Amino acid sequence: MEKLKETLSKTKKLFIPIEQLFSRGQSEEEILDELFELLILADVGVATSQKIINDLKEKARKSHQSDLKTLLKRELIEILSARPSTVQETFPAVWLLVGVNGGGKTTSAAKLAYKYQSQGRKVMLAAADTFRAAAQEQLALWGKKLNLPVIQGQPGADPASVVYDALQSFQAKNYDLLIIDTAGRLHTYANLMAELEKIKKVISREIPGAPQEILLVLDSTIGQNAIVQAKEFNRFSGLTGVFLTKLDGTARGGSVLAVVEELQLPIKFIGLGETEKDIMEFEPEAFVEALLS
Ligand code: GDP
Repeated sequence: MEKLKETLSKTKKLFIPIEQLFSRGQSEEEILDELFELLILADVGVATSQKIINDLKEKARKSHQSDLKTLLKRELIEILSARPSTVQETFPAVWLLVGVNGGGKTTSAAKLAYKYQSQGRKVMLAAADTFRAAAQEQLALWGKKLNLPVIQGQPGADPASVVYDALQSFQAKNYDLLIIDTAGRLHTYANLMAELEKIKKVISREIPGAPQEILLVLDSTIGQNAIVQAKEFNRFSGLTGVFLTKLDGTARGGSVLAVVEELQLPIKFIGLGETEKDIMEFEPEAFVEALLS
């Protein structure tokens, strides 16, 4: 909890005026008007802020509850829990990471690998971004550091063939978890989505029921732009959740609410720094408590 509070300290600064709002003795209407503006400033987004205000009005009326702060906390938890954040921890499993370059895919793959390796799982990584040599090298470096195998292809090779090779090795060696890092950019989003579909098809053909998780890696520091980006990726079928990165040092943590509300996708993991240990499973209550405590 302390680590989460520290991580969210910049975002929390934007929530302080929200907390203070409830102790100023204004009328409910005045509070809700100001709350709307403060939510927008905290990067919650217009649509989601409007929903929060409408729901609060309704809840205050129905429950004759005047404690708006408690109602707000409950509302935020409700929004963040609308989709279950539970991670599919059945093994063996294949997880796919997608998202634009620079969002933190490779680092997040390493964090997940470290997390499950620390729990005694045999983890393998695959670098399916054959367009960027640097991406493959970076994953290979993580593999060395964490002492895990990394399957790579020749530069320019068909990413689906790299995934195929990885799946063969994964099954032959009885590993528990295969985490696949993918390309974040092609000439067009349509090409990228077609490539991701092809990768997914290869996985489910080789291992029925897989991939168990397809996580969209989103950079929280870009705030509302993350929603625009995510909508592009939402055209790719089967996303199971979001890995929201770089929550440390950003004041835009409020965008978490818009991600869940507007994309209807749960946040499953959050990234809190650049090392392999800086990962947490997302818990709506702990998150809201850290923001509004
Ligand atoms: P990719 O292009 O999507 O694979 O992104 P990378 O994994 O290469 O990450 C891009 C940059 O973001 C790197 O400098 C990472 O160290 C950094 N990064 C990734 N996740 C986090 C995070 O949770 N917090 C911080 N502060 N930096 C991160």
